Amino acid sequence: MLNIILFGPPGAGKGTQSEKLIKKYNLTHLSTGDLFRKHITEGSDLGRQAQEFMDAGNLVPDSVVIGMVEEKVKNETNSEGFIFDGFPRTVAQAEALDRLMQENGSAIDMMLSLVVDEEELLKRLLNRGKISGRVDDQNPEKIRNRFAVYNNETTPVAEFYSATGKLFNIEGVGDIDRIFSRLTETIDAIV
Ligand code: AMP
Repeated sequence: MLNIILFGPPGAGKGTQSEKLIKKYNLTHLSTGDLFRKHITEGSDLGRQAQEFMDAGNLVPDSVVIGMVEEKVKNETNSEGFIFDGFPRTVAQAEALDRLMQENGSAIDMMLSLVVDEEELLKRLLNRGKISGRVDDQNPEKIRNRFAVYNNETTPVAEFYSATGKLFNIEGVGDIDRIFSRLTETIDAIV
């Protein structure tokens, strides 16, 4: 099993790099943002619970997120490992993930954190909003709120993994393939 957390602020390129990493290492992609958007499209109860938080750029409550991740991990019985994308976003989620991995007889191997400055992130998100129609990517004020939420609630998660030597910072600006190489060099040096 290889279990990786791909970490970083909104717009850091987690989704793009996850798609490439799952192919190379034969992993299961678990993006909580994608799962919520799927629930919203399907009109499920969970989607209704998540939508107002997402539209405002705030975090969905931990209990809702953790329950959804547990279900997904437990259903993927044949998986060779996971790339967690956009999760965990709070220390409570990180603790729940560690417990879940332990129950599964595995562990988080590393957190790869994509480092990108906020002006570049803002540019990328507004551009993505034009293409995808994502409401939370279209309004600079909502985007700034997501950066604030990231800085206040999510960055402590990096410290949580840093404490056990599992955090690796990766320069997230420049050519997509070059960033991918930086990620794979880091992974291959550890596994
Ligand atoms: P993302 O696609 O990762 O940018 O997530 C979009 C939105 O979904 C976020 O702004 C949050 O409202 C919600 N969300 C996604 N993942 C989480 C999480 N792990 N914890 C809380 N809220 C989340």
